[in-house]
Amino acid sequence: MKRIGGWVCVAAALLSWPWAVARAGETGKTLSVTGIGSVEADVVADVGRFVEANYRADTTVKPPVEIGEVSAQTIVEALSGARSERDALLLGIVAVPETVFPDTLTLAGEGMAFLNITGLMPDPEKKDDPAEVEKSGWLIRKEAMRAFGLMIELTACPNPQCVLWPHKGREQLEKKGANLCPPCLEHAHRALRAKGVPVQFGRNLDLPFSRQDEP
Ligand SMILES: [Zn+2]
Repeated sequence: MKRIGGWVCVAAALLSWPWAVARAGETGKTLSVTGIGSVEADVVADVGRFVEANYRADTTVKPPVEIGEVSAQTIVEALSGARSERDALLLGIVAVPETVFPDTLTLAGEGMAFLNITGLMPDPEKKDDPAEVEKSGWLIRKEAMRAFGLMIELTACPNPQCVLWPHKGREQLEKKGANLCPPCLEHAHRALRAKGVPVQFGRNLDLPFSRQDEP
């Protein structure tokens, strides 16, 4: 009898395991990313892949959003207009002058944020240097990771290997980690599940990107 009880526990554990969650993901909400205006589709797709792998949560790369006149107002309106029911959190990636969005990250109402990658791109004279392009890619990924952390109101993390460590300046951004530390990932998963986003503890345990891959 004791043994049967044990099997019931095992069966219950299996039913609540991530596979069940993964199936729910087909209809659940997602973390979403879109490019606004003149952002390259490759950059947006890379951010989507990175965020999905490292938050271990369903992520959608939405079609790009066109804008006419470039202003903070038109960009905010464009992102709001692009948001759908499924977008639990929506990050709009823009490449606009820093007079439009002075900060790299700008929160734009509940569950929406902008990442202005202008200051994260290689210097114009180095834009064809593969090492500079690679370095820029890491800065963008880290800031995108932080953007989703801010949208779910995760607090700053004291661990400099964690992407939620509050870096000051470009040099510290380059040095800090690109992933969430285990306690921050746990907080993130709790917040994301509360917003209806399926998370997968059992998936992508071997992260495709790691600190060692950085230049
Ligand atoms: Zn952390």
